Amino acid sequence: MALEIKNLVGGYSRIPVLKDISFQVKAGELVGLIGLNGAGKSTTINHVIDLLRPFSGEITLNGVNIQKDPVDYKKQIAYVPETPILYDELTLREHIELTIKAYELKHDDAWKRAHKLLKIFRLDNKLDWFPANFSKGMKQKVMICCALMIDAKLLIVDEPFYGLDPLAVHDLLELIEEKKKAGTAVLMSTHVLDTAQRYCDRFVLLANGKVRAHGTLEELRQKADRPDESLDDIYLSLA
Ligand code: ATP
Repeated sequence: MALEIKNLVGGYSRIPVLKDISFQVKAGELVGLIGLNGAGKSTTINHVIDLLRPFSGEITLNGVNIQKDPVDYKKQIAYVPETPILYDELTLREHIELTIKAYELKHDDAWKRAHKLLKIFRLDNKLDWFPANFSKGMKQKVMICCALMIDAKLLIVDEPFYGLDPLAVHDLLELIEEKKKAGTAVLMSTHVLDTAQRYCDRFVLLANGKVRAHGTLEELRQKADRPDESLDDIYLSLA
């Protein structure tokens, strides 16, 4: 098991947002984290990346406990946030260098991977640009390149499609497939349910800070008692 969340209670203050969250993401699997606005998807992710501390419960990644060994734990995670976080004073090249340093990557190998990704996302001739020169979608692509160049055990993508052009969405989904084949566990929060239905192996549906349902599309259909219906319809009946 790559990521394991057990009985997570957490949130931003003493009042819990997440009431009792348990789910797993296996190596080589893409799990879709779905649910209405405010259901707790980003809050769950914020706990997994150690931005928030659990009130109770346990999060482990390949057996490494987040509380006991946060440094080792965090190096295993690549993360694409919902809103791009870039440093105004650093160029694209310097953002790549920063990622290499932060994750202690082998410099030349990492740059080889970065060049490949930058070419795919048409950023390879923009290495000396600053964030102010990039559009919203281009900033998102920079975050994606920085995350995908890391050879992480867990890749988390929070609403990755928002602001991306259709070609970039297609390229990102292909790259996620490649990561899965290499054994990376992938957790993706999304509202784009037709894409989620096509690409995710399993789903975790959150509602009011709890897991309302989880499993494959077939398992969700059984739970909702709606055979043959789309993820969209099942979601509407369960969320
Ligand atoms: P969306 O689909 O809109 O992104 P979400 O499922 O990611 O929603 P969260 O952002 O996790 O939902 O929000 C869950 C709850 O936590 C909401 O009630 C929200 O008001 C609350 N919340 C989110 N961010 C904060 C914050 N920084 N401080 C306090 N409460 C917050």
